[in-house]
This record gives sequence, C-alpha cells and structure tokens, in this order.
Amino acid sequence: MLDQIKGLHHVTSLASGARSNNAFFTDTLGLRRVKKTVNFDAPDVYHLYYGDEAGSPGSVMTYFPFPNAARGKKGTGEVSTTAFSVPDGSLDAWAERLSKRGVTGLGRGTRFGDSVLTFDGPDGDEFALVEQKDDTREGWTGGGVSDDMAIHGFHSAAMRLKDEGATAELLKFMGYKEVDRDGDVIRFAVEDGTGANTIDIETVPGAPMAGQGAGSVHHIAFAVENRARQLEVREALMDTGYQVTPVIDRDYFWAIYFRTPGGVLFEVATNEPGFDRDEDTAHLGEALKLPAQHAHLRGKLERILEPIGD
Ligand code: ZN
Repeated sequence: MLDQIKGLHHVTSLASGARSNNAFFTDTLGLRRVKKTVNFDAPDVYHLYYGDEAGSPGSVMTYFPFPNAARGKKGTGEVSTTAFSVPDGSLDAWAERLSKRGVTGLGRGTRFGDSVLTFDGPDGDEFALVEQKDDTREGWTGGGVSDDMAIHGFHSAAMRLKDEGATAELLKFMGYKEVDRDGDVIRFAVEDGTGANTIDIETVPGAPMAGQGAGSVHHIAFAVENRARQLEVREALMDTGYQVTPVIDRDYFWAIYFRTPGGVLFEVATNEPGFDRDEDTAHLGEALKLPAQHAHLRGKLERILEPIGD
C-alpha cells in the first residue's frame, strides 16, 4: 500500500463558456482565480484555475471551457459530485446566496452525518457544500464571501460506478481506507492529506455509461509532495499493471495520468512548483499566462480568447 498520496490535488472539468464559468466560480462561489492560461493540447481554449489564495493542493477546481460545447450525459464511469468544505452553520446563508443568484438544483440533506447543500454548476455540474467543524484551511475572502462562509477547499469527490470492486481495491492500494458506508455509497479517506482527504464511491449497477461534455469532470488529480514521490507512485502503479503516462510538465505541477477500472481518469500531481511559479501571489490569475511552447501564439490568442473579466 502506498503512503505518498495525500488526498486531492485538483479537479478538472469541462465547460461551455469561459465568461459564465469565471463568473460562477469567482463571484458566486467566491473562489480566487489563481491562473488564467490555455489548454496545452488546444491553446485556443482557456485553462482556468480557481482555488484558495495560493491555489493550495486540495482547493483547486480547474476548467477547460470549450465555447458552446454540448452538455455531458450523466451516468456511470465518471466523477459525479465534487464537494467543497464550508464552515459549520453556513449553509442557510449559502442557500440564500445561491438562490438569489439563480443557481439551480438546490437541495439540503445529510450525508455521513454532515449537513450538505447540493447545487448545479453553470453546465449542470454536480456540486455540494459540506459543513465541517474542524477544517483548519483558510478560505479566500477576497472574492466577497465572508470568512464565516468561505470555501476552505475540497471536501471530497464522489465517483458514480457500475461496480465498485476494482476501483475500491485501487483506492486502498493508493493508501485510502474504507471509513464508512451510507446506502449505496462507500466512503474512503486518506490520513494526513491536503484536507481534501475523502473519496466516495456510489454504485449504480443499472445506469448507462456517462458521456463526457460540458459539466462533466474530465479527471481528478491526487497530490504527492514532489517528483520523487510521484515516480515511486508511478512505478508501483505500473508494477500492478496500470498503464501510466510518462511524467508531463504542466508548468504549475508535474502530472501522470492513468485510467481506472471504473472508467474515471486519475492524475497524480506534485505540490511543486505551484501557481506562484510565474506570477506574484498578490496577482495570481490576472494576466494570461502561456506555456512556453505556445508563447509565439500570444497575439492570436489574445484576439480570439473570449474576455472573461477579473
Ligand atoms: Zn489535471
């Protein structure tokens, strides 16, 4: 069993519009945009990152907004709900805030003993806010959401699968322990993580396979401290029979990817070098940053990329 994986690093999803995506995460949810860059493989598409002040591992929601992309079809083999941690007692205020701003899909409930508010993202993304008493991570208040409400980072990600068996085994291999069950949902957690230490598996045997599109999660990334730990994880996964990509430089972290038995794409990402690699923490996310191989496209990209506001 591995001990290098420290919870979630980031979650990456698809969107249909950059401006609406930016407004939702910065204005409605009050996260900080910590990087405005482009997709490495499709530089005419943004890659937008939202998180806490520094974009700490475990707080970072990232998007590829493909203009006018069709919506994804919900089903199995995908991440269903991405959940954020919020202060205890803040859900009434959140429900009012989201309702006033026209957010749909609002629902209150209790999961594993925690109060939860579910809601839809701009493309029907499945989100939840989960009240947590003991989350010591600092929320970002620069976006106009007060300290007694601010999101502290991810709480968890849930996968919707046809069959949990092989993915549950994989999570255990990655260092997660099964900690609870609630109906068809099995909860796993890793110790000493980024704070985003929880993964849920929801088993829905009869449901169709998901079809990826706007509002779908593209992959979830798990955090490792550095490149040495990442290589250990890569070797262990390959020894177990997983097809893992070579290490890829993503400018703000190093990444490896592999497809899991249930169909979800996993990434393992390093906590180094971080989002202050190419701009001061005080100004994260303000300027358009381009990967070196796309720097020569700046003039063209600045003309064609939709302006998204601050
Ligand atoms: Zn990623």
